[in-house]
Amino acid sequence: MTRQDLSKTKTLVSRKIDSIAPWIKEISHIISRNPEIGLVEHKAVALLTSELEKNGFNVERGVAGLSTAFKASKGKAGEPAVGLIAEYDALPEIGHACGHNIIAASALGAAVGVSDLLEEVGGRIVVVGTPNEEGTVASGRGLTDLESQIRGKVKMVAEGAFNDIDAVIEIHPYTKTTLDASFLALRPVKIAFRGRPAHAAAAPEKGINALDAVILTFDGINALRQHLRSDARIHGIVTEGGEAPNIIPERASALFYLRAADKYYLDEVLIKVKRCAEGAALATGASLSFQESSYALSNMLSNSILSKIFKENLSCLGERVEELDQHEHLGSSDIGNVSQVVPTIHPLIRVGSNDLAIHSREFAEASVSESGDRALILASKAIAFTCLDLFAQKELFTEMRMELRRAIQN
Ligand SMILES: [Zn+2]
Ligand SMILES: [Zn+2]
Repeated sequence: MTRQDLSKTKTLVSRKIDSIAPWIKEISHIISRNPEIGLVEHKAVALLTSELEKNGFNVERGVAGLSTAFKASKGKAGEPAVGLIAEYDALPEIGHACGHNIIAASALGAAVGVSDLLEEVGGRIVVVGTPNEEGTVASGRGLTDLESQIRGKVKMVAEGAFNDIDAVIEIHPYTKTTLDASFLALRPVKIAFRGRPAHAAAAPEKGINALDAVILTFDGINALRQHLRSDARIHGIVTEGGEAPNIIPERASALFYLRAADKYYLDEVLIKVKRCAEGAALATGASLSFQESSYALSNMLSNSILSKIFKENLSCLGERVEELDQHEHLGSSDIGNVSQVVPTIHPLIRVGSNDLAIHSREFAEASVSESGDRALILASKAIAFTCLDLFAQKELFTEMRMELRRAIQN
């Protein structure tokens, strides 16, 4: 395809997206009005998959054994595939305060926007529906349960759901438009101590205080912070701390999230945290159970080739691209795990001003405001244009794959 043809194709796609814009916005608003938390996003999935089917996409439900995960594909078999991530989980109490309605609807808008041209340009689009990004699953499986920390993409990567996909794009609403969301690697650990109960006043010498062991673990970790790299984050909550003040606590436990910019350094942090807990067990005489979640999140490897193309498309759509401030960290996301196996980008799109806090009720409102809708249509176009660029220059898929291989080896 010549440059001129590509630019004509983009104009066609832009017009198509404008013509379906009211529908894209409606989907975003319906998802926002019906917030569902992780792993029970049934209404959102039913809506997205039925709309994709109406537009000729082939839908596979229950991907990787997750009832609210799906893949919807369109295009010729054997052609390179771009995966467009749809997230649709909300937060308890505050609804779509992370604006995932925009992630879902922009993937849908972009996919349908280019879908008529796939035969002509020779490519495949796969909308990948990924549940529970937030890791806050339905009640009854509280945050203290390590296995409830499962994030959709982690399981989907482990079960090979991304093996037939050659590049992945996910956008996320934010307070500025920027290219690289740097996500930290994350490992949840549960630290539980078992002591010996005794009357806290009448027979304290006969007891072993499990709560003291938890407190000493926190103290040890607080001392450790001085000796960690500045990207390391350790933050925990006490999940069990005794039954009554007159009983020496027999059981006490804490749940910690450990994070760092790369998974190798995170391995070192984990060993040090474990030593703090072992020291606390030794000091108190309590026995320690140190449990790691099998659902660790990887750090984000942003693909620079894909990022550059996306940036050019944002600029050509008139959007100003800013940099993240040095202190701006976005925590962790399961898109990091995807980025370790497929060339991936996760740009952020502005839905409101800088004083807006993500995970707030105001952010949920902004995500369906005029400014949120503007971001949604802009993102749909930028994603669609980027797919067209990739399909028009298929050698880019090999170059992106090589960049990923180099990044993993480093
Ligand atoms: Zn969030
Ligand atoms: Zn989010």
